[in-house]
Amino acid sequence: MNVDYLRVSVTDRCNLRCLYCNPFGDHGRGDGSEILRLDEIHRVVRLGAECGIRRVRLTGGEPLLRRDIVDLVQRLVTIPGIEDLSLTTNGVRLAPMAEELKAAGLMRVNISLDAVQEPCFRHMTGSDLLAHVLAGMHKALAVGLTPVRLNCVVMREHNLSQVVGLARLTLHLPVSVRFIEYCPTTRATGPADAYVPNDEVRRAIEAQLGGLAPAQEPNAGGPAVYFRAPGAAGTIGFISGRSSVFCRYCSRLRLTSDGKIKPCLHADQCYDVKGLLRAGAGDGVIRDLMGRVLREKCHYTRVSSAAEDFLMQSIGG
Ligand code: SAM
Repeated sequence: MNVDYLRVSVTDRCNLRCLYCNPFGDHGRGDGSEILRLDEIHRVVRLGAECGIRRVRLTGGEPLLRRDIVDLVQRLVTIPGIEDLSLTTNGVRLAPMAEELKAAGLMRVNISLDAVQEPCFRHMTGSDLLAHVLAGMHKALAVGLTPVRLNCVVMREHNLSQVVGLARLTLHLPVSVRFIEYCPTTRATGPADAYVPNDEVRRAIEAQLGGLAPAQEPNAGGPAVYFRAPGAAGTIGFISGRSSVFCRYCSRLRLTSDGKIKPCLHADQCYDVKGLLRAGAGDGVIRDLMGRVLREKCHYTRVSSAAEDFLMQSIGG
């Protein structure tokens, strides 16, 4: 697998309290100086591009909470070698920002959407903002931040009831609805048995919408596998990180909001690139580090699937 993808968490702050991620609103305790600045992110991405990074996804925390997010997009998109710049958001602030983000050069968005009914949305996210998220989705489609992908983390006893309603969105909208297997972390409230294998999600959808046929999806290049319901405008994707270990297909490195490079979400190793940046290291030193992590990543295989102690929003789910 060619490792060419960098996922950048631009903040550890979030405006939702998703059950599977950060139900207690646990934020970094720093004063903000621990978070990478725009020029620092730009430098890491520029040097990463010199080492083969071609695709960048901005995430968080909630990336649209970062005040300089439009400037950041504008700067990153001009880096030679960067071919794909996307963003993962909870969608709450997307509608008023979509046009500006598109004009700045953002290419597409993934939007987290774990329920289509208000009470369940409130239960999953601790907020009443479903209408804002849906408005964000429509605006993203209208301004061409496409393909628009909607990501749902499925938890038994919490939002399994929503999967058919979410899949139905693909019947009339040109979106991809993707179901992500819940990965227990010790910071989330969900017990390990909230995990629902994607085979079960697929059976529930097929029972209502009919058999799913394999489908092609633009900018696929990741671990998701895509299908289409009969007659649907959009696609349905499954990301099965627990029922199948997909290390062989994982092409991504992560840059955490506090400036660490991680070869894998589940890896203990991380490399303190912020320390180097702030100690005045030259480009060659940082490029060497990036090259080393990229080489290491090519041989990395996840060994554990037990609940791990991390806060997804600082690593960037
Ligand atoms: N705030 C943005 C959002 O809501 O999309 C971006 C950050 S959020 C951490 C990014 C993604 O991480 C979520 O869409 C979700 O798919 C994934 N995620 C977070 N915690 C997870 C967990 N415990 N299991 C599986 N996926 C998780």
